[in-house]
Amino acid sequence: MKIALFSIPAHGHTNPMIAVCAELVKRGNEVRFYSFADFEEKIRKTGAQYISCDSFLPELTQKQEEKIKRVSTTEMTITDIKTTLRMNEFLENEFETFAPDVVYCDSVCFWGKLSAWKYNVPLVVSTSTFAFNRFSSTYMKYSFSEMFDMIFGLSKIKKELNSLKPYGYNVKSALSLVQSDNSTDSVVYTSKNFQPYADTFSSCYAFVGPSLLTEKIPQKEKDCPLVYVSMGTVINDRPQFYKNCIEALKDENLDLIISCGNSIEIGSFGKLPENVKVFKYVDQLDVLSRADAFITHCGMNSVSESLFMAAPMVLFPQTGEQEAVARRAKEIGAGERLNSEGIEDIKKAVMKILSDKSYSDAAEKCSRDFRSCSGAKGAAEFIETAPHASDTEKTLLDKLNVYNVIFRVIYSILQIAVVVFFCFTPLRKYAWIFGVLAGVFSYPAGKIFQNIAYKKLSKN
Ligand code: UDP
Repeated sequence: MKIALFSIPAHGHTNPMIAVCAELVKRGNEVRFYSFADFEEKIRKTGAQYISCDSFLPELTQKQEEKIKRVSTTEMTITDIKTTLRMNEFLENEFETFAPDVVYCDSVCFWGKLSAWKYNVPLVVSTSTFAFNRFSSTYMKYSFSEMFDMIFGLSKIKKELNSLKPYGYNVKSALSLVQSDNSTDSVVYTSKNFQPYADTFSSCYAFVGPSLLTEKIPQKEKDCPLVYVSMGTVINDRPQFYKNCIEALKDENLDLIISCGNSIEIGSFGKLPENVKVFKYVDQLDVLSRADAFITHCGMNSVSESLFMAAPMVLFPQTGEQEAVARRAKEIGAGERLNSEGIEDIKKAVMKILSDKSYSDAAEKCSRDFRSCSGAKGAAEFIETAPHASDTEKTLLDKLNVYNVIFRVIYSILQIAVVVFFCFTPLRKYAWIFGVLAGVFSYPAGKIFQNIAYKKLSKN
């Protein structure tokens, strides 16, 4: 089969696709990976053809770059749309000459998704975080600035989306571009056990577990514990935080490894204590296989890798999506949240993780679960056999949607009945207040009802 892979220039999105790419090549497929210079070497090693897309990225002002670094959804969406337009002719040619049988594309890589739709090629979406629907998204907790960015960016995004239409890219809304529904074939790099509300997703979702190119297994025996710190590859410019970690842990009987990213000079940390090592980038899977605690920003890949290597975590999420990952890791007992980036809090959280065996036990349990998943091999099988959508499948979410409609109808009838009732009593002057109150409570009441219905249905 001919398979085209597309990703954005980001480690967290590309890394899990590389293991899948290697598996697809191993199985005899002809694979082209449309990607960026940072990943060229890793992609070529898999045996796939690497196609450079660097020249299509739009030039960004410093302000735009800053916004993207702070994970501005609006700015990222607009840049993605602009890249798609710049790639239009190139993609037209590629889809005509290479003519892929299936497209495997990162969930926020618009040019790959839009082209698959435009040229009618089966699409499988690579989801580098949890699968989100209206149930699992309750795990996210956006900051005020993220909400502000999303709400006020909508009109800007809409304008940009309109610019795609003359080129034959059929887009209904920004949401339809980024979110998969129960009829979108999607690979998710986690297990059904770790995915929140996994049973609300259809069989179009393959929960294959972490997709990693490693033979390593957890090896924790050594003289003293190893603590590893990383804030990932995007929002990692946090010199004061790393300094606080060093200060908090330099006098403890442990080794500390920090991966600080490319934007910080290692010399800026001054003379390092004996037990501390700082690198710009490390072989994270290798470090995690030996680590006894991981202070992490809770990127999905970092948390998955940590659990795969049975390393419990100190959870320090920075974005709404990382909040969801942190919440789930805490829920399974494999981590503890960091209250602040202060020295005392860091020390307290790390010592708690190291001294309480329940955290490493929970991480080990999850490691066994992840290792029993099908991984990159399962993803490759799912891609080769796409499409998977079925018109007849009735998911738990479909049933919950029916319950939701029934609830709304009954609630509205009761709301009207209560207002009408009060109109016939001496309190008639205040009838409108009861109407407004019932309206305000309809949202939380709906949520409570949905949760009860979910619990009941999922038990069945
Ligand atoms: N990573 C690595 N070495 C480092 C730092 C990060 O190999 O020193 C890898 C890590 O293994 C993971 C990815 O970069 O696969 C980071 O992805 P994640 O989703 O955790 O965070 P993001 O960088 O997207 O915020």
